Amino acid sequence: MQGMLVIISGPSGSGKGTVVKRLDPELGYALSISVTTRAPREGEEDGRDYFFTSEEDFHKMRAENALLEHAVYVGNYYGTPRKYVEEQIEKGKIVVLEIEVYGALQVKEKFPSAVLIFLMPPTLPELAQRLTNRGTEDMVTIEARLKKAMEEVPLISKYNYVVINDIIPEAVEKIDAIVNAERMKPMRSAEEIQKFIDSEAEMKEFLHSC
Ligand code: 5GP
Repeated sequence: MQGMLVIISGPSGSGKGTVVKRLDPELGYALSISVTTRAPREGEEDGRDYFFTSEEDFHKMRAENALLEHAVYVGNYYGTPRKYVEEQIEKGKIVVLEIEVYGALQVKEKFPSAVLIFLMPPTLPELAQRLTNRGTEDMVTIEARLKKAMEEVPLISKYNYVVINDIIPEAVEKIDAIVNAERMKPMRSAEEIQKFIDSEAEMKEFLHSC
């Protein structure tokens, strides 16, 4: 099976992290872990949730071309380590990047076959409630993140799919369905098509034997 790149974006508080963590590795999903200069939240672990790093080291990675894309989000830098993504695609995995819109568009430029999914909470008040209930950010940061959510809306049209995240298991199922359908597109079925073509001699042999 050919590897593929799936990008999941959505406003802060849309439940992306939760949804993405439920994608089953047994089905071939491999989650990319980003690098960030943001301070860890309570409960977050270095190397599991993010690679937490200094601005200096982040810029060094950028300069060394070690990041596939990067962006600034509400005052912090975020980026996708290139090596892991390339290795996993090579292995035929469905590599999932949970990144914001500007980074997503950079990846789309480099990998036009990447599948872009925008995960959206049902309404803005619901989003505000999720962010305040989470209790991990102060009000100033929450307001900045809600403003950012509104800024991202016009870019949704650049995405391939929109999934409303109301009930988490249903959102996961919808992402699985998108990935399954995408895997059947002709551009990702080159191997299967070639196998079909290559079986012509066998077909002729069969006809002769009849
Ligand atoms: P948070 O601080 O809530 O973990 O993430 C803030 C935003 O940064 C989210 O929209 C998240 O998807 C995005 N993000 C996380 N990692 C990356 C990355 O590597 N690149 C980009 N462009 N955005 C990222």
